[in-house]
Amino acid sequence: MKTPTPAFLELRDLAMGCTACRLAETRTNVVFGVGDFGARLMLVGEAPGKNEDLQGEPFVGAAGQLLDELLAGIGIERRDVYIANVLKCRPPGNRDPRDDEIDSCKGYLREQIRMIHPDVVITLGNFATKLLLPTEMGITRMRGQRFEWWLGATLIPTFHPAAALRGRPRVKEQMQEDFALAASVLEERAAAQPESEAVQTRLGLS
Ligand code: URA
Repeated sequence: MKTPTPAFLELRDLAMGCTACRLAETRTNVVFGVGDFGARLMLVGEAPGKNEDLQGEPFVGAAGQLLDELLAGIGIERRDVYIANVLKCRPPGNRDPRDDEIDSCKGYLREQIRMIHPDVVITLGNFATKLLLPTEMGITRMRGQRFEWWLGATLIPTFHPAAALRGRPRVKEQMQEDFALAASVLEERAAAQPESEAVQTRLGLS
C-alpha cells in the first residue's frame, strides 16, 4: 500500500464537503473512492447505489461481488486496485447521472487519475467510457479493445457489472476477456519497467 500524498488527501477532503450539484442534498455519504494510492490498475464505475451511499464505499453490493470475482480471475485482489466512480454521490433512485452533475464532478476523477497515475484504467459501462475517452459509441462496440490514453495509461472499456447481473451470460464472459486483456497490459508494463523503478514502486518510494 502506498501512502496517499497530502494533495490527494486534500482532494478527498474537498470532495467530502462538496456542494457543487443537487446530489449533495440527497446523499448520505460522499463515495470518493477506495484502494491503493499506488495501484497500477484503476476501475471507474458510474455512480454510488444505495449500499454505497450508506457505507461510503464504491461497489459494496452485488455488482461489487462480481467485480471482486473478475479481479480474482486475473489474480488481483480489490485492495491492490483503486476503485472510483464518475459521480461521487448517489443519484436518487439510482437514476442515470445528468450532464451537469457529471460536469460538476469530473474534476475529482481527473485528479484521482492524475495523482494515482495507473498503468491501466478499466471503464465500467457507458458513462465512464464516454466521459474518459470521449466517444459517442456504445459500450458494446467499444469493449474488447485497448486505447493508448492520457498520461501514458492504457484504457480498456468493458460492460458495467450490473449488465452481467441482469442474466446475460455472454456479458460476463466478455468482461472476463476484457479483464484478461488488462492483466496482459499490466504484465507488459511491469516487464518494461526498469528494475530500479520496480523496486521503488514495491517499496512505495516512487
Ligand atoms: N455501480 C457503480 O457504478 N458504482 C458503484 O459504486 C456501485 C454500483
